[in-house]
Amino acid sequence: MAQRPILIAIDGPAGAGKSATAREVAVRLGLPYLDTGAMYRAVALLAARAGLGPELDAAGREAVVGLARRLDVHFAGDPRNQRVAVGGEDVTGALRAPEVSRMASVVSAIPEVRREMVRRQRELAARAGGVVEGRDIGTVVFPDATLKVFLTADPEVRARRRFEELTGHGVAACRESVAAEQRERDLRDSTRPDSPLKPAQGAVIVDSSRLSLPQVVDAVVALLPPTP
Ligand code: C5P
Repeated sequence: MAQRPILIAIDGPAGAGKSATAREVAVRLGLPYLDTGAMYRAVALLAARAGLGPELDAAGREAVVGLARRLDVHFAGDPRNQRVAVGGEDVTGALRAPEVSRMASVVSAIPEVRREMVRRQRELAARAGGVVEGRDIGTVVFPDATLKVFLTADPEVRARRRFEELTGHGVAACRESVAAEQRERDLRDSTRPDSPLKPAQGAVIVDSSRLSLPQVVDAVVALLPPTP
């Protein structure tokens, strides 16, 4: 029988270090990397460009579902330098804007949007496996992943990291508004009825508050079950 590909699910709140960890684990193990947040961000960017704001009425929700179904998103490059293209346009930087983060958590609460993204994520990672990061990867998308990790950190640490990440990318940001945006997004992500953020059954909780990135990567790799 063919061996199942290795699939590592990394879920957790904003700023816990999921992206950096998932990318480095993918490089270390030579696995593909899938940033599912970028897919919701891509829908959010298109919605914002279509003039839709976070307060969506029924027509707005329907328009967002249409955008999700028609979404033409592509990932290119190695995990450390991955680029995201939407409709052939490189939107890697645009996806990180704070208003896109906020809108992503609004559009991702729409069940039809989730269904479409989950279908694509399963298609993308089912064949070759990979390191997949998001909010519902262990709970919904790949509940029988090889390893499920719930990566978390203290709220102050997460807010500081996100602030440093934004300013490091040259985005003007205010410490308090970054922390407030993160609180709002975590609350929305963990209280939505469809696929709320929570540790999956069998997930290992890793707290990165007092760990460096290499330490978190080592901890995740060490959790992989031995190959038979
Ligand atoms: O991980 P990232 O911050 O890029 O995710 C942006 C938003 O997309 C999250 O706040 C969440 O609302 C949504 N998301 C989701 N499910 C995923 C990945 C992201 O709902 N698997």
